Amino acid sequence: MITDNFNRKINYLRISVTDKCNLRCLYCMPETGVKLFSHNEILSIEDILFFVKTASEIGVEKIRLTGGEPLIRKNIFHLISQIASLPKIKDISLTTNGVLLKDSAQQLLDSGIKRINISLDTLKRDKFLFITRRDLFDNVIEGISEAVKIGLNPLKINVVAIKNFNHNEVIDFVDFGIQNNLFIRFIEFMPFGNSHDLRFISKRELIDILQSKYSLIEEPSSDLNSPSKNYKISGTENVVGFISPMTEHFCKNCNRLRVTSNGEIKTCLFSDKSYNLSDAIKKHDKDYLINKLTSVIKEKPEKHFLSINDYKFKKCQNEMSKIGG
Ligand code: SAM
Ligand code: SF4
Repeated sequence: MITDNFNRKINYLRISVTDKCNLRCLYCMPETGVKLFSHNEILSIEDILFFVKTASEIGVEKIRLTGGEPLIRKNIFHLISQIASLPKIKDISLTTNGVLLKDSAQQLLDSGIKRINISLDTLKRDKFLFITRRDLFDNVIEGISEAVKIGLNPLKINVVAIKNFNHNEVIDFVDFGIQNNLFIRFIEFMPFGNSHDLRFISKRELIDILQSKYSLIEEPSSDLNSPSKNYKISGTENVVGFISPMTEHFCKNCNRLRVTSNGEIKTCLFSDKSYNLSDAIKKHDKDYLINKLTSVIKEKPEKHFLSINDYKFKKCQNEMSKIGG
């Protein structure tokens, strides 16, 4: 087990397996895409596996694969099955935009993925085209149906909440969740350097909208490290979640470490600091890596300073599509 300087147990690693994506979400990437890492810079599947194995030796037990779009990465299923078979890894999950999910859901399940999160910000085709700049709404809906059909459960749908874009779909999303047994989670929009100018809406405002139809009862958290605050929807068996990095910081329970597809370690999503460990990872230099990781974890900041008060100034210049959320 490894703890940082604030006594937080660091046991969760989020891996961005590629910086490429098949969508261009307004809040994440510019229309023209981002400058991609070169082929030489990208960690191979074996390098990623080596990194995970090494991290598991200092206490990492939980892995999430993200991107870019992780289902674009060649040999992703092989990577998943290899990670899933590591003795110290208790949980492996994936975050996807769902575009390629229909044809990969079964393989994901077979290779050992326990849970997936699907990002979807609207239930309307024309609005999907607007927010993602790609006309692929039907693919995502078919991907969700397939995942439900084969029993990938629990299925979480992450919705980035944006005022004047989807705030009037909040109730529709919750109804969609009730009908299809999905766990809907609303995420407060975070202003990154590549984000288009979109309007922020807070968790509080979203709850007020929902309460015009449903009563919500706060659920005790089953996972203290989860950033999501969950509420039971009265009269149903369903739960809705809110992730509110802007209005309710969850830094004091943060157990995360992130690695980008070129081997840079980030100890905080919002920090401009990163530690390039790609040489050690590519050389499979385990002792050096363990030493370095241990000292990097000790530098994890206590908290981030992004807030709704300065959100207009886009203080965080990190590229979300490279870090993976
Ligand atoms: N491509 C995959 C996807 O979209 O699910 C994985 C990578 S994406 C960067 C991970 C998550 O970050 C998604 O749920 C996405 O909605 C969220 N995200 C990206 N930019 C964001 C922003 N500016 N504010 C809030 N969430 C954001
Ligand atoms: Fe791609 Fe995900 Fe970013 Fe959308 S949020 S552009 S799907 S990486």
